[in-house]
Amino acid sequence: MELTDDQDAILRTVREFVDRDVLPSVAKYDRADEFPQPLYERMVEMGLFGMTIPEEHGGLGLDVMTYALVVAELSRGWISLSGIMNTHFMAAWMIQNFGTEAQKAELLPLMATAELRAAYSMTEAGAGSDVQAIRTAATKIDGGWSLTGQKMWSTNGLRSGMVMLLAVTDPTASPRHKGMTAFLVRKEAGVTHQPGLTIPPNLKKLGYKGVETTELVFDNFHLGDDAVLGGPGGIGQGFKYFMAAVELGRVNVAARAVGVARCAFEQAIKYAQERETFGRKIAQHQAIQLKLAQMGTRIRAAELLTFDAARRKASGERADLEAGMAKLYATETAEFCALEAMRIHGGYGYSQEYMVERLYRDAPLLILGEGTNEIQQLLIARRLIEMNPA
Ligand SMILES: Cc1cc2nc3c(=O)[nH]c(=O)nc-3n(C[C@H](O)[C@H](O)[C@H](O)COP(=O)(O)OP(=O)(O)OC[C@H]3O[C@@H](n4cnc5c(N)ncnc54)[C@H](O)[C@@H]3O)c2cc1C
Repeated sequence: MELTDDQDAILRTVREFVDRDVLPSVAKYDRADEFPQPLYERMVEMGLFGMTIPEEHGGLGLDVMTYALVVAELSRGWISLSGIMNTHFMAAWMIQNFGTEAQKAELLPLMATAELRAAYSMTEAGAGSDVQAIRTAATKIDGGWSLTGQKMWSTNGLRSGMVMLLAVTDPTASPRHKGMTAFLVRKEAGVTHQPGLTIPPNLKKLGYKGVETTELVFDNFHLGDDAVLGGPGGIGQGFKYFMAAVELGRVNVAARAVGVARCAFEQAIKYAQERETFGRKIAQHQAIQLKLAQMGTRIRAAELLTFDAARRKASGERADLEAGMAKLYATETAEFCALEAMRIHGGYGYSQEYMVERLYRDAPLLILGEGTNEIQQLLIARRLIEMNPA
């Protein structure tokens, strides 16, 4: 792939960061489920939180393609690092594309430096795949809105100073999605109790450690009128805005999967050339070679699908089909490669001493998040049928 000078420079910087700082320390943070403060600070210094924010608002002004390349590199080190950035990126993209000029001018410069970090919250305990089933409601009151309801699985829910949140504003709307609005919920970062909002202890997860995932419990939380994304014209548009962002999120998840798969492959091919059985390196056994060939080929295909979807999204072309296919294929590849890398490591792959144990716990998130792969296939099929009428 031809890279511009800017893309090449930022990718080289991120790759060095991953090799020098992330890979040697990730096991420590993963095991302690600890927020990687020094790594986060280095990411802020590199300008990664403002990567796609326009230069006029203090960001680097890079495109979605560059973002995807960087996410794959970061995720080769640890998907939690891209998790720390991703909700922020989606929220910034939504403000940039659907926000009022005042919202852009106020929020994007703070987001570019990570002074203000953002979470992104649609999901509720009773509504994941079926987003239209959300119940959290914002009721119009004098001078603003009152927000009540319980959100689930909010990545960066605690440390963020703002949540891009989907709420019902017209419960009588039919179809339901026409009665939903996106809100910019400003809150105190890192605080578990504040008027109208309680954040229970972090949800305990199989992998994807270090980055917190929380519930957000709103009870008559007060929002100003200016909290509606897009201003008065944004009322009732929230579902549409969130779905556009989810498409972008799928490119991002695909890029994360490419990173996880690359890491699994690197660990596997290195180990296969070190470990000996029956008098030869295991890389000389055909059974291991078949695994390496499958992994390498699938990773190549995942990269091509992912960066094609990113390029389309960056150029403004319709990319829902491509983003869905990339997300489906790349995440299944990450899951496949994590398991194959473990098999290649034999019993040691099951030990916490080797990185593949973590990859095996991290990879499944990718097949579930940003639309499960079952839902992904339904969307792909729907679009294929639309494109091929009888
Ligand atoms: C670690 C983590 C972090 C997350 N971070 C965020 C976040 O920051 N913000 C946010 O908003 N959400 C977040 N999520 C939520 C995530 O997007 C949802 O969990 C996901 O969309 C699936 O929803 P669900 O868990 O309710 O599963 P369900 O919707 O209950 O699905 C259960 C099963 O049924 C299948 N299924 C459902 N409907 C159909 C259908 N029509 N046809 C066929 N199969 C179907 C699904 O594929 C799945 O296999 C996070 C989740 C996790 C685990």
